[in-house]
Amino acid sequence: MKLTDIRLRAVLFDMDGVLFDSMPYHADAWAEVMHRHGLHFTRQEAFLHEGRTGAATINIAYNRQYGHDAPAELIEQIYAEKSALFAQYPEPRQMPGAPELLCKVKAAGLIPVLVTGSGQRSLLDRLAHHYPGIFTPEHMVTAFDVRHGKPDPEPYLMGLHKAGVQAHEAVVVENAPIGVQAGHAAGIFTIAVNTGPLDGQVLLEAGADRLFPSMKALCEEWEQLFPHP
Ligand code: CA
Repeated sequence: MKLTDIRLRAVLFDMDGVLFDSMPYHADAWAEVMHRHGLHFTRQEAFLHEGRTGAATINIAYNRQYGHDAPAELIEQIYAEKSALFAQYPEPRQMPGAPELLCKVKAAGLIPVLVTGSGQRSLLDRLAHHYPGIFTPEHMVTAFDVRHGKPDPEPYLMGLHKAGVQAHEAVVVENAPIGVQAGHAAGIFTIAVNTGPLDGQVLLEAGADRLFPSMKALCEEWEQLFPHP
């Protein structure tokens, strides 16, 4: 997809690491709870696998050690513990630049759509609090909506469907390699914002069409990318 082929109507936003500076807490929580259950999983891996569903994340560690997927009850227990630990951390702040970008998106009459692999109620509730009136429930795709999580294109294809737009009428804003792969596989122009500790090259290799060092940088360049008609 070329930038000039886009007739922008909707912007599909990932949540963690894009709208909230929440990834360091997720990484800490994953590393600690996996360790609690005898599974080896580093903070760095949490960033590399960011965007996968809870079950898929747990199974990466479990498969490596045991050669098969974890039992469903264990997955449920680990994910519940991880979510509980995450909820004890300080409230993640809004990602600098994100509120300003959402304002621009709204003011331009574009549809903001949330596309997250998260199934954590605390964060989804926080969204309504920190970004009031931006994302309507019918324009949200969460872990509860999809069968296949990122890097499968399903979440972003569902985002297009919910917004009632085609791939060339949308862009994806993502911070994680897995999420970039999902946006790219859905045939959508995918903008990567490197808000974490990974090398930006990883995001380009995942298929990012553009790479920005922060949400603030993307916000500042937005009108150059998508001039208001
Ligand atoms: Ca993310």
